Amino acid sequence: MQIIHHIQELRQLVREAKSARGGIKVGFVPTMGYLHQGHASLLEAARKQCDLVVLSIFVNPLQFGPNEDLSRYPRDEERDLAVAKATGTDIVFFPSVEEMYPRPTKTIVSVIEVTERLCGASRPGHFDGVATVVTKLFNIVQPDYAFFGMKDAQQIAVIQQMVDDLNMPVEIVPCKIVREEDGLALSSRNVYLEPEEREQALILSSALNMAEKLVREHKGPLLASELQEAVKQHIDQSSIAEIDYADILAYPSLEPITDLRSVPAFIIALAVKFGKTRLIDNTIIRW
Ligand code: AMP
Repeated sequence: MQIIHHIQELRQLVREAKSARGGIKVGFVPTMGYLHQGHASLLEAARKQCDLVVLSIFVNPLQFGPNEDLSRYPRDEERDLAVAKATGTDIVFFPSVEEMYPRPTKTIVSVIEVTERLCGASRPGHFDGVATVVTKLFNIVQPDYAFFGMKDAQQIAVIQQMVDDLNMPVEIVPCKIVREEDGLALSSRNVYLEPEEREQALILSSALNMAEKLVREHKGPLLASELQEAVKQHIDQSSIAEIDYADILAYPSLEPITDLRSVPAFIIALAVKFGKTRLIDNTIIRW
């Protein structure tokens, strides 16, 4: 496994691999590090599908708002490298902020409409930061396939829209959410949770399970507003859960819906704060 800090070096390595072995498929997994089994599942999927697997670890300042957790975002380089190695990753790209942004960027990639709701509304500028850094990373790595987790379902919708609109020659591969045994979706931010918060955070996955069961067992028309109300009431059972959003939208367009049966697929998307920690989770229901 090679660890690379500079863009030119990375480009050269990928170029050399491609010319040494004609027609190889390059798989790319962009992350912000503090790797867990969710990240590992993306690397494993890339390993299965591609000849060369590139992982990037970069905490992208552009996607954090002024009052967010950029400065305290968890980092553990040594453990990240061990996780990467265990999944058979070929190259770890570990650029510094100066390497990625040697001067303030005057070019921002901004995806409209799909970014209007959910995290786009709660975190202004977040998806501009994501789309811009992912564009830069795609240009640097030039992957054939890029692997993203459905944990960040809106991010996948945004990236897919960007790739389609801008004719980027990369296939986006969505990977399913990896959870702890008790249902909590893995997240680098789970480390912030106090024991009581960790326990109460199970309300997210239990709300999604309850909602899915309700939808599947419900006979006759069911309104998104009714389901949303049931989900909110469920989460309100936790005394410390503070709902940022609990929304039901068409997926992947992320447009509002009235009748759940009017679209082929919809998302139940949650963002809930426990103390200082904001967690997201979701499920997609396809008819
Ligand atoms: P992050 O490091 O949080 O930016 O995440 C990097 C990638 O890992 C994104 O595509 C995430 O959606 C994905 N990811 C994070 N948590 C999980 C999870 N629990 N299951 C699957 N993928 C995940």
